[in-house]
Amino acid sequence: MEPTLKTDIAVIGGGPAGLAAAVAARAAGAERVLVLEREPVAGGILNQCIHDGFGLVRFGEALTGPEYADRFLRAAQEAEVQILTETMTLELTAERRLTALGPQGLFAAEAGAVILAMGCRERARGAIQIPGTRPAGIFTAGTAQHYLNAQNLMPGRRALILGSGDVGLIMARRLTLEGAEVLAVVEKLPYAGGLARNIAQCLEDYDIPLYLSHTVTHIEGKQRVERVTVARVDEAGREVPGTARVYACDTLILSVGLIPENELSLKAGVKLSPVTGGALVDEDLQTNVPGIFACGNALHVHDLVDYASAEAEQAARSAVAFCRGEAALPPGIPVRPAAGVRYVVPFFARPGSRPLLSLRVSAPAGPGRLVVKAGEQVLAARKFTRLLPSEMARLTPRLPVPPGAAEMEVLVSDA
Ligand SMILES: Cc1cc2nc3c(=O)[nH]c(=O)nc-3n(C[C@H](O)[C@H](O)[C@H](O)COP(=O)(O)OP(=O)(O)OC[C@H]3O[C@@H](n4cnc5c(N)ncnc54)[C@H](O)[C@@H]3O)c2cc1C
Repeated sequence: MEPTLKTDIAVIGGGPAGLAAAVAARAAGAERVLVLEREPVAGGILNQCIHDGFGLVRFGEALTGPEYADRFLRAAQEAEVQILTETMTLELTAERRLTALGPQGLFAAEAGAVILAMGCRERARGAIQIPGTRPAGIFTAGTAQHYLNAQNLMPGRRALILGSGDVGLIMARRLTLEGAEVLAVVEKLPYAGGLARNIAQCLEDYDIPLYLSHTVTHIEGKQRVERVTVARVDEAGREVPGTARVYACDTLILSVGLIPENELSLKAGVKLSPVTGGALVDEDLQTNVPGIFACGNALHVHDLVDYASAEAEQAARSAVAFCRGEAALPPGIPVRPAAGVRYVVPFFARPGSRPLLSLRVSAPAGPGRLVVKAGEQVLAARKFTRLLPSEMARLTPRLPVPPGAAEMEVLVSDA
């Protein structure tokens, strides 16, 4: 299909990352910036997050999700970004050609650079294989949140929540406020998956128990969930005999992980990390396919939207530089997660650069130091009191990547 639309920058996904990228691309000098968003309104997952807590880092204010999104929507309008809503991008090629379906039908577009900002999706029951029947009443936390906040529908009256990720914690409070009884939040790991502030504000404030090292082992119910069995698990994740407890409930909410949305990226030949599920980017947030950049939850799952927006702005500046022919130097050296670190983004960094490193630890750690090394040379060392896997850490090395280094590593060491 011949491209009917030509643009300097095409942004796939109009969530907070996509909108921030679009505004920053215009500010960096791109003339034509196009955002493709499949939902009827841009704003992404924030549109259903009516609680506050967004924007604390960026604006120093606790905004609701829609309020945070609105700031970027207005900025995008002022910057004359073209936002096509109800427009699903169906295909992307390595040559930066897109095929999309919108109210005007199927069309093709050609872009100088593409920014992937498709966000992420939730892991569902199939991914964790809980034994039992298949009744109604089992929802992912995001689906339950959409029912409640966007459609004014009550997902259930007596709920159990599996997984202590932030979405599950937020839903524990939300369901309680709407009059449901939340019996417990059950977490397989020995530590919580969500932010400490959400444990305090969503569970402790409402006397909702959190059972760590516990999981759901069985679901019963014919038409609707009737009973859910919970048991303690050992360090290897095996059920500890004699610890099973049965909860009578009509709803099971799953908050068991988020997966970056990257089907389109794969079709374009973008290589993904098996750890983050996002693209293997360099310090410019460029993927292995020249001219295709990634940011936000499509790149790696963020704890705070403020960081997703900042990352998107960085991707946009790099994308505009690419369009001007200023980017794409030889590939950088690998940035490797070492002791105590689960992942680091970016995955490559060029000699002479001081990449902003976003990372998560593999298990609760601290007090200690985050150390960035290239060979024996220490490029950065930062003390911390406590780091949790639920919290992203960000660090820019004080020294640039030295020429001749074979790789960089980021690790946790004792204080
Ligand atoms: C329940 C919940 C509570 C949260 N609470 C907080 C909080 O209190 N504070 C905070 O800072 N952060 C919070 N977050 C995190 C924050 O919402 C995310 O960091 C942020 O939304 C990520 O932005 P994004 O643009 O990368 O992804 P998203 O918001 O998911 O946006 C991605 C967009 O891409 C679109 N899209 C995907 N594929 C296509 C396609 N093929 N074609 C067209 N469009 C497409 C989607 O429709 C969507 O609009 C919360 C998240 C959730 C889910």
